[in-house]
Amino acid sequence: MVKPMSSNVAKRKLHSHNGDTGMSDELPIAPYTQILVLNNSYEPINVTNWKRAIVLLLKEKAQALSSRVIRLVNYIRIPFSKVVAQTPSRAMIYKRDNNKCQYCGATRSLTIDHVIPRSKGGKDVWDNLVIACSSCNVKKGDKLLEQTNMKLARKPFAPYNKVQFALSYTEVPEWQEFLFV
Ligand SMILES: [Zn+2]
Repeated sequence: MVKPMSSNVAKRKLHSHNGDTGMSDELPIAPYTQILVLNNSYEPINVTNWKRAIVLLLKEKAQALSSRVIRLVNYIRIPFSKVVAQTPSRAMIYKRDNNKCQYCGATRSLTIDHVIPRSKGGKDVWDNLVIACSSCNVKKGDKLLEQTNMKLARKPFAPYNKVQFALSYTEVPEWQEFLFV
């Protein structure tokens, strides 16, 4: 477990470049990156951008644990709906489907397919979006799955906890240690 940086150190570093939010080496967190936010209990609760993270540090609402992780000073209760994944990003669909066409397993020229086509009322939601290669996408076209002889490798699902989901695919080593908190 990373030792928390004392808030005095964080403050000194933040104030050492005259309030400029530029790319100083003195910043306690890495600029132009996504920052993991931990609750006071060390439970991951959000991934935020570096500017918001700096605001939390300046307001002394958080302390920097490392260049990519901050921890809230006070424990906050998170409404359930904030933790559950809602609208997925394209990147999240690619990750969930392991960068593979869900119809034929191809790993090249991938796109996102609506299982129920938009023209038939299909929505941009987790269980209606899958990765498909361009030829499967063309083959399926505007048809419902039942109208084709195509099969999904598995039923598309929504991850229970979007923060844990993001962490389980992270390539940021500093985040990995908080995965199973
Ligand atoms: Zn395919």
